[in-house]
Amino acid sequence: MPPQHVAVLGGGLTGLSSAFHLSRRYPSTQITLIERQKRLGGWVRSERVVLPGTTTSVLLEAGPRTLRPHGKSVLELIHLLNLRDEVITVPKSATAAKARFLYVPKMYGDKIEGMQTLPSSIVSLLGSPLFPTLLQAVVGEFFGRRNRPPDVLDESVDAFLTRRFGESFARIFGSALVHGIYAADSRQLSTRAAFPSLWEAEERGGGSVVRGFLRKKAPVEDDYELGNMLDVMKDVSVYSFRDGIQTLTNALESYLVARDNVRILRETNVSLLEKTGDTCKLSSSHVVSALPLAALQSISSVFIPHLTANPMSTVDVVNLVFRAPPSEIHPEGFGYLIPRPPTGYAGCRILGVVFDSCSLHEQDKPNVEDYYHKSEYTKVTVMLGGPYGRGEWTVPGILDEMEVHLGRRPPRPVYWQHHEGRIPTPTPGHFTRMKEVVGDNIFIIGSGVGGVSVVDCVFAGREVYL
Ligand SMILES: Cc1cc2nc3c(=O)[nH]c(=O)nc-3n(C[C@H](O)[C@H](O)[C@H](O)COP(=O)(O)OP(=O)(O)OC[C@H]3O[C@@H](n4cnc5c(N)ncnc54)[C@H](O)[C@@H]3O)c2cc1C
Repeated sequence: MPPQHVAVLGGGLTGLSSAFHLSRRYPSTQITLIERQKRLGGWVRSERVVLPGTTTSVLLEAGPRTLRPHGKSVLELIHLLNLRDEVITVPKSATAAKARFLYVPKMYGDKIEGMQTLPSSIVSLLGSPLFPTLLQAVVGEFFGRRNRPPDVLDESVDAFLTRRFGESFARIFGSALVHGIYAADSRQLSTRAAFPSLWEAEERGGGSVVRGFLRKKAPVEDDYELGNMLDVMKDVSVYSFRDGIQTLTNALESYLVARDNVRILRETNVSLLEKTGDTCKLSSSHVVSALPLAALQSISSVFIPHLTANPMSTVDVVNLVFRAPPSEIHPEGFGYLIPRPPTGYAGCRILGVVFDSCSLHEQDKPNVEDYYHKSEYTKVTVMLGGPYGRGEWTVPGILDEMEVHLGRRPPRPVYWQHHEGRIPTPTPGHFTRMKEVVGDNIFIIGSGVGGVSVVDCVFAGREVYL
């Protein structure tokens, strides 16, 4: 018998996904979604801004901005919520998909320096200045012996990549990748939690990650309702929505509001979670917590281990809009990431810059066909902070740093906005610890438990079976 009443705590993407799937799966169960803020969506926040003194509008993202097409959990939502017509895609063949850059400051003293295009094919690899470094790392790894000690059950991304591909590969490529996804230090981040496919490839390849990726994975059975979404996503590199990622959370909210078996309590701070007792104003037999783990720890009267074991990385997200076409600001492509300085985190604080106009120009009005040369405005997003720590920053300071990276000074932005984001950093051992994060009739999910990506959060919400 499904329970009469389930409380879902936290109206971010994970809580919304959980309430959505539970309400469909258990139509006779009453579901109450409780969110502290007035708006639902958590870190997902898309805002359309009309530029001062104009009728032009740009869509700016404070949180996630593009999604990878292989995440079936989100494709299923797009299908079930009828959002297909809202999707905008970047094909794999587009320059915005193929040209991804790495900026290695000259002062780092590495063999690789300056703005480098990451190879997107074998042909581009052959002509790339990164070729010798990558070739040495990849060939060495392919022929290298199994070198993971049997008692190592997890390790940091930096330790893993150093062990398999060498120190310079781990710092230059690994740390930059981690800056782009987790805004964190790759020496702190768990490989098994953050990049389980690397860990699995090493096992599949008999000790070699490259050999593992060359071997076919056994197909996994699933029951996603996808309609024609796999066809839609064929040859797509990344995608978003005409009105941003918030399209997804808005559609989930509308769906839930219309359901008879769902009640949404906004501006309601869950302050105490007790198994029994008079102080519980809302009584439910089952609880799904999609709260940040530290928030769950602060309200739970029952001991649940490991809730504060992982640090959170705080990242400053600065959207800049320039009155000039992208061709006058930056090269055509997805954006660039900057690796960790060899001497540790000090100095320049930018982790990476996303060239939003290249992949997401269809969101802006009016959308210009040859946007790269003809668009009147350019939007970029700068991410800074994370492992550099909190510190003062200014827009002129950001422009100074970008001038060094891009070799040309961006003009003064006509509009800018800032948001602070917080992303969990699962440290080594996270995978094992999370198996112990359990309570009676409480399901603990969210970006602090499974992966942090949008796809992972939607998946976690989907996988709650009462
Ligand atoms: C800046 C940034 C950029 C990102 N970019 C990407 C990207 O490009 N691609 C990608 O896949 N992922 C990206 N992510 C990750 C992804 O967006 C997040 O992991 C995901 O949105 C987290 O969703 P959540 O519901 O688990 O948590 P949250 O969004 O944190 O939701 C938790 C909710 O709980 C509520 N809450 C907290 N305490 C209480 C309480 N006591 N009572 C009631 N409610 C409470 C909060 O108000 C919040 O709404 C990004 C994240 C950030 C921060």
